Amino acid sequence: MYDIIILGGWAAWLFCSIWAPKNQKKIIIEKNTSLGKKVILSGGERCNVTNIDITPEDDYFGENIKVMHSLMAKFSNYDMIDWIEKRGITTCVEDRGRVILESGKSKDLLDLLIQESSKNNTEIQKACTITKVEKVDGVFLVHLSSGESIQGKNVVVATGGKSFAQVGTDGFGYNIARDFDIEMTDPYRGLCGMITREDLAELSWSTLDVTLSVYDDKKYLYDEKGAFLFTHTGLSGPIVFNAVIKLGEHLRKLGIKESQQKAYFEEHITLKLTFHEESMTKRVHSFFELSEIKNDIILHLADLRSWAEAKVTGGGVKISELTNTFECRKVEHLYFIGEVLDLTGKTGGFNLQQAWASGYICGRSFESQ
Ligand SMILES: Cc1cc2nc3c(=O)[nH]c(=O)nc-3n(C[C@H](O)[C@H](O)[C@H](O)COP(=O)(O)OP(=O)(O)OC[C@H]3O[C@@H](n4cnc5c(N)ncnc54)[C@H](O)[C@@H]3O)c2cc1C
Repeated sequence: MYDIIILGGWAAWLFCSIWAPKNQKKIIIEKNTSLGKKVILSGGERCNVTNIDITPEDDYFGENIKVMHSLMAKFSNYDMIDWIEKRGITTCVEDRGRVILESGKSKDLLDLLIQESSKNNTEIQKACTITKVEKVDGVFLVHLSSGESIQGKNVVVATGGKSFAQVGTDGFGYNIARDFDIEMTDPYRGLCGMITREDLAELSWSTLDVTLSVYDDKKYLYDEKGAFLFTHTGLSGPIVFNAVIKLGEHLRKLGIKESQQKAYFEEHITLKLTFHEESMTKRVHSFFELSEIKNDIILHLADLRSWAEAKVTGGGVKISELTNTFECRKVEHLYFIGEVLDLTGKTGGFNLQQAWASGYICGRSFESQ
């Protein structure tokens, strides 16, 4: 019998296993043959560990973003930087406050996390898919695709969201939440590109700084100025990714389901691009026939890029279903941490910061057991 079984894994689970008491018997179960596929990819494989400048109200989305203040009070971005640097990995701050590994190698951090997790007495089982979790007479049974099942006193679900499923995240954590009757907000795509009704293929791979404003039937929703890219189907870049989460939140609040999104976008959502002189290119200038008096254009949103391209999933397990240590109020000893939660960040290290902090808080909470 294990004290703690951590399901799935990369950021949140590794960190949780590092902070859980050493004398407790811990196991991490991961379906991939290698650990941390997302850390290798993160920040363009340079690992954007956190952000130097975090304002929960501006940088996170979800029904209860205020909880991010309490996560930050317990384990902040500076705590994470300190933790890494004390272990010999230096970081630097780049544009948009992104904290990156100076070595430029995500694997350095992954190796450190695995080493610290193993030092803290954690077994790691790879190439092992969890199929179901049950609680029978106060003990959790975690069933595996091999037909085996393992028993544990506590289960921590850190299986991520349902986007970017090609690295293993297919929404399995939501099945566990449903099986235990834990409420969720509908998952939606975050941090992906937009497809426009207008054909912009001629401009593809033009990069510039613009202000992107999003409107729902002329009602202003959001704007951000920053790096932006035309693609063969529409728009991409950090400010577009962030606008996609904002839109997802807006539609969730309106009660629009994922299956109705496309129709809603087509009918209601417009995008204004305001161009700035300093980054204007001739190609863009002449394509939109810009002039001294006309420096913006209106585009129409047709759809978002696919789930496979979305870097995070918005929505998920409701924070109100959990205690301040991420334990389910309805099911004792069952925890949810990381991206499976309805607490999603913008691009720039905010999502990993949520994973570190929720992993830390959950891991430390086992000290009292
Ligand atoms: C390409 C890409 C780049 C990114 N870059 C950044 C960045 O630079 N900065 C940032 O802050 N965020 C970034 N993110 C987002 C960030 O990686 C995630 O928010 C973060 O990894 C979430 O951590 P997690 O531990 O909750 O879940 P995940 O990292 O998604 O890990 C969940 C794990 O659970 C495993 N799993 C799922 N189901 C099962 C099952 N049934 N059985 C066994 N195992 C299972 C999966 O294989 C996976 O390894 C990026 C994401 C992507 C896709």
